[in-house]
Amino acid sequence: MSEHPGFCPACFAPLAQEADTCPACGARMADLSARDYREKLVHALLHPLADVRMRAIIALGLRGEPETADALVKCAMNHPTDVVQGLEIIRSLARMKETEAARTALSLLQARHPAHAVREAAGRKLECSTLE
Ligand SMILES: [Zn+2]
Repeated sequence: MSEHPGFCPACFAPLAQEADTCPACGARMADLSARDYREKLVHALLHPLADVRMRAIIALGLRGEPETADALVKCAMNHPTDVVQGLEIIRSLARMKETEAARTALSLLQARHPAHAVREAAGRKLECSTLE
């Protein structure tokens, strides 16, 4: 249930995939509700370390919850020169299937992201009828 992304969602310490309790802060993964967990991952998008943000982006893509699309767009716009991160955000949004939120998010990035590669990738995902 708690497929954590390789770091503790409470304190961002690295965490083995099978760990149930964080060795750094003691947070129990099983105690995090799906909603808590989503909020913590969204919060991790603001983390100063690119590595932590990237793991959160990947984890949010795997969860595929359209509620997180806006936060992913903000993260992409906050780091206009980080093309690798921008492309991962596009992939995560594309995994949110045919939701209005994902299409809106991709349209925004296609129109406004400063990096050409990111705008182009968003456009390609929008053109695919399945978004996959
Ligand atoms: Zn922790």
